[in-house]
Amino acid sequence: MSKLNVVEVPNIILSQTSDVVSEFDDSLKQLVTDMFDTMRANNGIGLAAPQVGILKRLFICDYENIQLVCINPELELYGDEVESEEGCLSIPNILATVNRYDCVNVTAYDINGNVFSKSFSGMMAIILQHENDHLDGVLINQKAIHTRYDNGKMIDNNEV
Ligand SMILES: [Zn+2]
Repeated sequence: MSKLNVVEVPNIILSQTSDVVSEFDDSLKQLVTDMFDTMRANNGIGLAAPQVGILKRLFICDYENIQLVCINPELELYGDEVESEEGCLSIPNILATVNRYDCVNVTAYDINGNVFSKSFSGMMAIILQHENDHLDGVLINQKAIHTRYDNGKMIDNNEV
C-alpha cells in the first residue's frame, strides 16, 4: 500500500488547470492504485489527481460499492439544481454548501484507455461534479453559498 500526501489549501496547485492524460501506461495505473489507497486511508469518497499534487485530468470515486476511475472526463449536467453540503480532503474541517445538478452523464476513459459513458444521480452525481471541479482548479470554498466548520460554527465566506 502506498499512501500519497494530500495537498491542502492554500497550496496553489489546487487552483491550477490539469492537463489531459495521453499515456495509459503502468505509471498511470500505479497512480490510480495509490490514489485509491490514499482516499481510503483518509475515509474519502472521491479524490482528484491535483489533490495528490499531480496536474492530470483524472479522478476516482468510491461510494456505496461503486468504484469509478474517470480519465479526461467530460460531464453533462441535467436534472434539478440542488444545494449540496460538501467536505473536501484538501480543505480540512470545513463544510461548504454549493449548487449542483442532481444528474450527471460522464464520458471518460478508463484505466485501460477505453471510453465509457455512464449516468448517475444523487450522491454519485454530486461526487462527480466535485471531483471534476478539481481538474479545473475550482474548490468548494470558491463557489460556496455558505460555509461552516464541521463543529457547526458558521463562518463568513471571506475567512475561508
Ligand atoms: Zn475536493
